[in-house]
Amino acid sequence: MRVYILGTSGTFPNKRRNHPSVFIEYKGVGIMFDCGEGTQRQIRSLKIKPSKIKYIFLTHWHGDHILGLPGILFSLINMGYSEKLNIFIPRGYKKNLEYILKGFGIEPNFEISIKELHDGKVLDDQEFEIYAKKVKHSIETYSLYFKQKDYIKIDEKIAKELGVFGDKKILKKIKEGKTVEINGKKISYKDIGYIKKGIKVSYITDTLFFEDLIDFVKDSDILISESYYFYDPHLAKEHYHLDFIEVKNLFDRSNSKLLLLMHFSQRYDKEIEMIREKIESENKNIYFLEDLSIIEYTRDTLKLNIGGKIVEYRRDEKTGDLKLISSQPQ
Ligand SMILES: [Zn+2]
Ligand SMILES: [Zn+2]
Repeated sequence: MRVYILGTSGTFPNKRRNHPSVFIEYKGVGIMFDCGEGTQRQIRSLKIKPSKIKYIFLTHWHGDHILGLPGILFSLINMGYSEKLNIFIPRGYKKNLEYILKGFGIEPNFEISIKELHDGKVLDDQEFEIYAKKVKHSIETYSLYFKQKDYIKIDEKIAKELGVFGDKKILKKIKEGKTVEINGKKISYKDIGYIKKGIKVSYITDTLFFEDLIDFVKDSDILISESYYFYDPHLAKEHYHLDFIEVKNLFDRSNSKLLLLMHFSQRYDKEIEMIREKIESENKNIYFLEDLSIIEYTRDTLKLNIGGKIVEYRRDEKTGDLKLISSQPQ
């Protein structure tokens, strides 16, 4: 699985930062959270095939989160996209999306499914699920998380000892959580394996801080959050955004493992580097995202590439705990 960070800016893009968008690729399936202006150019920069996009989630109808959509659709039409494209939007915005399609003369030659977001599970794919939660912004807005389903992993050595390793039928049953009987002995997954905790990637978009958020992002392996303001929660409240102090509180209290920050106000354009250095040196497992960062999860290794800085963690499959393996500055 890979998480590509396509844009990290606030309301206004700048030379270094594009409008917000996060792209998760899981076994060839592309899931996009938000689609700010210029997103398709970022996709091309990272050499992601646009045809991989299967799901697009728009968290709310503010320009910085949606302006890239017409461009992506235009491209998909021109490149002969032939999948069914699934677009999830906040409740009450179906007409707005239809206006965009009509206004831009977008006539897709592929199927588009438009669904409205609601609290709870909004997508159940074979191996992962997406959940949404209505948050507190100036308009109807949803935060999201991706969760790989937990699954039973068999310990090859023990399975061989018990003589069940070669029996696919029996193994399948055990992996489904059933108990089987072999030579009069009852065997369940607990005897020959364990539950591998699926990875959880949360995306907190524009919102005020509120207590229920903690439960929503609980035990995230990767918590990606807006941090529009720094050390000025009053201002954040006034503008329906989060301040870093609140994001840190959310991170600590939700037992999340890694906090990745983005969507910074343009007021910090000059000092953002200084703020980053201070916060990253004072806190473990907190990083400021750069555009085109890549977070890669293979087997039990979580590798971050943020602006050329490489950080590697080992992830405990049973508990989800992270252990820092190496960190190489740019
Ligand atoms: Zn907004
Ligand atoms: Zn925003």
